[in-house]
Amino acid sequence: MAEKARKTLEERAQMSDIERLRHSCAHVLATAILRIWPDAQLAAGPPVENGFYYDMDLDHRISPEDFERIEAEMKKVVKENQKFERIVLSRAEAMDMAQSGRLGGLTERDAPSKFKIDILENIPDDEEISIYQNGEFTDLCAGPHVGFTSKCKAFKVMSVASAFYKGDANNPQLQRVYGTAFPNKTELNAYLEQLEEAKKRDHRKLGRELGLFHIDEEVGQGLILWMPKGAVIRQELQDFISEELRKQGYSQVFTPNIGKLDLYRTSGHFPYYQDSQYPPIVDRETLKHLADEGCGCAELSNRLDAGDVDGYLLRPMNCPHHIKIFSATHHSYRDMPVRLAEFGTVYRWEQSGELGGMTRVRGFTQDDAHLFCTPDQVEDEIIGCLNLVKKVLTTLGIDDYRVRVGLRDPDSSKYVGDPEDWDRAEESLRQVASTLDVPFTEAAGEAAFYGPKIDFLVKDVIGREWQLGTVQVDYNLPRRFDLSYVGADNQPHRPVMIHRAPFGSMERFVGVLIEHFAGHFPTWLAPEQVRLLPISEKYHAYADTVAETLRTIPGLRMTIDRNSEKVGAKIRLAQLEKVPYMLLIGAQEEESQQVTIRHRNRGDLGSVSVSAFLEQVGTEIRERSL
Ligand SMILES: [Zn+2]
Ligand SMILES: [Zn+2]
Repeated sequence: MAEKARKTLEERAQMSDIERLRHSCAHVLATAILRIWPDAQLAAGPPVENGFYYDMDLDHRISPEDFERIEAEMKKVVKENQKFERIVLSRAEAMDMAQSGRLGGLTERDAPSKFKIDILENIPDDEEISIYQNGEFTDLCAGPHVGFTSKCKAFKVMSVASAFYKGDANNPQLQRVYGTAFPNKTELNAYLEQLEEAKKRDHRKLGRELGLFHIDEEVGQGLILWMPKGAVIRQELQDFISEELRKQGYSQVFTPNIGKLDLYRTSGHFPYYQDSQYPPIVDRETLKHLADEGCGCAELSNRLDAGDVDGYLLRPMNCPHHIKIFSATHHSYRDMPVRLAEFGTVYRWEQSGELGGMTRVRGFTQDDAHLFCTPDQVEDEIIGCLNLVKKVLTTLGIDDYRVRVGLRDPDSSKYVGDPEDWDRAEESLRQVASTLDVPFTEAAGEAAFYGPKIDFLVKDVIGREWQLGTVQVDYNLPRRFDLSYVGADNQPHRPVMIHRAPFGSMERFVGVLIEHFAGHFPTWLAPEQVRLLPISEKYHAYADTVAETLRTIPGLRMTIDRNSEKVGAKIRLAQLEKVPYMLLIGAQEEESQQVTIRHRNRGDLGSVSVSAFLEQVGTEIRERSL
């Protein structure tokens, strides 16, 4: 995506206090860099989420070893308490400064400021040209800024990366120096600690260490292989969600991962959105036939788009399959709503640069469902979806979340369907959101092209916000597939469809949970729940007896560590593998027919009878305690 090097004046005026501070720090950074490397050619230096950056062309390759030196120079600029001064210039004056290297520089230089000249040339004629000056540094900038450099009290140079000028690969490659800044040291330190904690919790790192999932180049990028331990977690979650869905009157269905292109022509997914789909599958017979006719690849592609050649598509969505299940039988208003649920696997072609771990993938399983209802059932159905989300998140100890109501962008024409339907659907979502005791915001332009939606944003234990899934109201697909039910008036009526995948995908959800729990899954989700640690070979027999008793809990995931290691080493290994319960078994335990409990987080919990432990762990699992 092309980055906007300059924001419009209106966007500038809306800059928040923290953005103003961070953008000012970008100027301080630029001043420091020019003092160290006077030849640096500066491009753009905007605030970004959690900080700011400045792009520059510079012969010296900036490395982390330079950060301390840059920060020291920045501190000097802050200490000098330079005033940020806004100066309005004519286009010619600004161009003169750029030509002499003075704009985006400290003094006149041999080389003109090439990027500033380019930016200047692209400023619309009716826009005022302003520069900001602090001390000896002058930059082309619309502002706004803080008053003085001394406001930049807490900042840090974070990293350096390469970036193309204006984000375009045809342009020169620049160095992008990132920094962060906060109003005070306390907030900066809290942020740095959070980053440190996030690194420890990174699901890619923990997923590897705990053997939860694997990505294999030979299988393909963005395609997750769930290893046995990861599969346990996913299955437990699916069982839990399915249990709740049954309580809410959903029907489970199963459908295949591919469908004919015509299905997606009707739904509108093909040939639109091709960029985010795997290419169509055409059978060999047809391909051979086309080749004999002299049809080349480009022509085949065109014929597929036009619908002259049929094929199959790896499904990008589950909706069309569920629609076909709905339309396969006759429906009366009395059996509405129809709620069809499936953990449905879909495939999307994400750009390879965007892939990483479980949060951005090319194949994933949605906790999907489609509700077909009458127009006056929409609100109740949405409330049902929200209650389910509440139940699941609360059980997982995620109490902090909000919803965002995504509405149309009033200036865009990309939306399909009747404006009246849109008004109704938006009003329903607003209504529902206002009755929840959950904070909600409205966001224009966040709607799907076929209807408005509600997004769930959850905050994890270290304060990061994650976007999970959505609930979408859709008047469009029922029309495209000509769906109907018979109303009380004996006439056919069009149902409304609700798409809902509140946790997004199992991949993303488990990825978020790995980080939320830092790998310490509660006992009911833990891949291994109990490990018996006999302190020597002499006690293997008693360990087997204990295991026998524990097996009365169906499906309890338990192992016996029969290695000849010392018990201290066995404990360390179990801790490392984040097993919730370790049961130590030696002479004392055998004699008293007890076990000594050690908990992963709570340490030594003393000795109890085997039946007492059985009772305790059984309840913990059954109640899905945290
Ligand atoms: Zn500026
Ligand atoms: Zn759907």
